Amino acid sequence: MCEEQIQMVDLHGQYLRFKAEIDESMQAVIDSCAFINGLQVKTFAGHLADYLQVPYVIPCGNGTDALQIALMALELQPGDEVILPAFTYIAAAEVVALLGLVPVLVDVDPRTFNIDPRKIEAAVSERTKAIVAVHLFGQSCDMEPIMALAEARHLYVVEDNAQSIGADYTFSDGRVQKTGTIGHIGTTSFFPSKPLACYGDGGALITSDEELATRIRMIANHGQECKYHHKRIGCNSRLDTLQAAILDVKLKHLEEFAEARRQVASRYDEALSSCDSLVIPARSAFSTHVYHQYTVQVKDGRRNALQCLLKERGIPSMVYYPVPVHHQEAYRRISRVSGSLDVSTRLCESVLSLPIHTEMSPGQQQYIIENLKKNL
Ligand SMILES: *Cc1c(COP(=O)(O)O)cnc(C)c1O
Repeated sequence: MCEEQIQMVDLHGQYLRFKAEIDESMQAVIDSCAFINGLQVKTFAGHLADYLQVPYVIPCGNGTDALQIALMALELQPGDEVILPAFTYIAAAEVVALLGLVPVLVDVDPRTFNIDPRKIEAAVSERTKAIVAVHLFGQSCDMEPIMALAEARHLYVVEDNAQSIGADYTFSDGRVQKTGTIGHIGTTSFFPSKPLACYGDGGALITSDEELATRIRMIANHGQECKYHHKRIGCNSRLDTLQAAILDVKLKHLEEFAEARRQVASRYDEALSSCDSLVIPARSAFSTHVYHQYTVQVKDGRRNALQCLLKERGIPSMVYYPVPVHHQEAYRRISRVSGSLDVSTRLCESVLSLPIHTEMSPGQQQYIIENLKKNL
């Protein structure tokens, strides 16, 4: 048995490394008692906008709210269709359904796990108004063809960047942009395990469009134009000042965090690339990878057995995600399926995410690799 307990994400270890900075930043909020919309919320939003090189970052309560507010800001009407990947976290489908819109499910690329741009066009109908491009596990969807199609068919593009903040997308002309800044609106989550994470809930919207930014700000604040004057139906979705103070510290280390996970990923790649019974995660030519997850595909239906064997050896692993959207009870009947979703279905049966985080020691990782190889 490995002496140190292995975790999927080591939040405490990371906290200890930055304790002095984080404690000081939190203490300043407590001293000011400006817990709601305090100075740090604006400061952090400004720093994140600078980092992403966009004019507007609007913080909100969590990543799911961010998606909901994005779709509300686009003024979609009930019955309008929104294209989504079938292999993903449920949040996008959920807010689409909550707003009376129709989720249209499209299959993903088996190499990158992201929505397959070649399959989006066939899914577009007269009612289609938007595409949600979810940048899964740490790398960008192929945004260039997605944006070209969106322009040709007059669709909005929302990028769900909860798992890939910090990743760079390279266009065919060599231009590089951060994920979340390419579509009309980007959204992200600061949930504790995400690449840019706080110590509770948090989220943000990203845009370069001034009018959308104004609408988003208004919607997140009860639809108020000014206090007690409600221009549109909104919601109450705010980032706590304490969380903003933590995020402002962590943002300074975001690149370093991604680099630490990339090193873990390279060690996995090197050790596992020759295993015939596994497919290691592919790196797209057009995107950097921030490795929110290191997700392998286990062949021959052996995924669940392998997960149990690893667990017996004290090695955690997770199945992101076990059920595709079109097989979810709540979404089966209300979604429209476009084309075959076989890749999504197959991935749900074969994917396994291995421990990867900023604090992982080579010794811990060696233990994981040895046990993996022994049980393949
Ligand atoms: C975590 C996550 C969300 C939701 O974020 P919350 O802050 O938990 O609401 C949405 N989309 C994706 C892809 C996520 O990973």
